[in-house]
Amino acid sequence: MLFELKEKPLIIAGPCSAENRLQVLKTAEALKDLPVSLFRAGIWKPRTKPGNFEGAGAESLQWLQEVKEQYKLPVAIEVAHPQHIELALQHQIDVLWIGARTVINPFHVQELAETLKGIDIPLMVKNPVTPDIDLWEGAIQRFEKAGLKQVAAIHRGFSSYNASLQYRNHPNWIIPIELKRRRPDLFLINDPSHITGKASLVKEVAQRAMDMGFNGLMIETHPDPANALSDAAQQITPTQLKDILEHLIIRKQTTADVIMKSELEYLRQLMDGIDAEIIDLLARRMELSDRMGGIKKDCNMTAFQPERWNEILESRSSRGEKHYLNANFITALFEHIHDESIRRQVEVMKQISNAAKP
Ligand code: PEP
Ligand code: MN
Repeated sequence: MLFELKEKPLIIAGPCSAENRLQVLKTAEALKDLPVSLFRAGIWKPRTKPGNFEGAGAESLQWLQEVKEQYKLPVAIEVAHPQHIELALQHQIDVLWIGARTVINPFHVQELAETLKGIDIPLMVKNPVTPDIDLWEGAIQRFEKAGLKQVAAIHRGFSSYNASLQYRNHPNWIIPIELKRRRPDLFLINDPSHITGKASLVKEVAQRAMDMGFNGLMIETHPDPANALSDAAQQITPTQLKDILEHLIIRKQTTADVIMKSELEYLRQLMDGIDAEIIDLLARRMELSDRMGGIKKDCNMTAFQPERWNEILESRSSRGEKHYLNANFITALFEHIHDESIRRQVEVMKQISNAAKP
């Protein structure tokens, strides 16, 4: 079984696109001595704009068959149409994956699930480009309902308009964590290549995925990344992959060290107490919001006061900074708190106006 939950991560590597026979075989040759269990290559490429390289198509299926035979390495491709599935099966492709732009459309996913009904092939489902966990989980369920026994999830990050982001796609780690919470049985693979969009950052995200307990890594690998026909900036060479894999720290889910375990248990208990205090304080803060809502209603003032909100943001961020708390974290936390405070004030305003009705 390919997607078996174990300590050692499953390593998937290969080029973004199969460009020509030589490039495919050269990549496989360079990967043969590395602990790579699955060779990936896109042969039909979903490109954002027309006119870019869209993959070598059906012709490249033979190159992948050569990889399989010559290097005894199972091969995986992306499929987006029922015809892709048919061709993949005719050419003994071992594993399929569904791309982030396909997962976004339930009609499309359902059509692919029906095409795969009764076929026993491992399948990987990338997260949709939007940060929608239900859409991702739903796509996985559609394939499982069609009878597929081996379905894994690939976290490849989420699109963002903000080009100044450190990474090409926002990791939103909380989403794969929530998916794993809902589905502890699910095999979760991280794709640091598409998250970072940058070869030099692949290593740090691959390690982060290991720190978080992911079960596998899919890393785009090309013999000559600078001249790759797609995703040139994020592909790494097989030598760079070797370096990453040699230095990767693999972490365990638990420890047998009883002293450390009891130390952790002690810290968790302290944390439980603090969380209880945080909740009690939030409840007190929200009571104040309710009282403020009443006053604002009586004075016919708006619930949202932009100047006050700026003051809250600035003062809380600078207080947080003094305690070395991440500024983005403090901002996001107070955005939530403030949003709830406004919601409660608006509720109070509604109640009072209802009571005032004749
Ligand atoms: C890919 O893996 O090359 C690919 C196109 O990925 P995604 O669907 O994540 O963009
Ligand atoms: Mn790619």
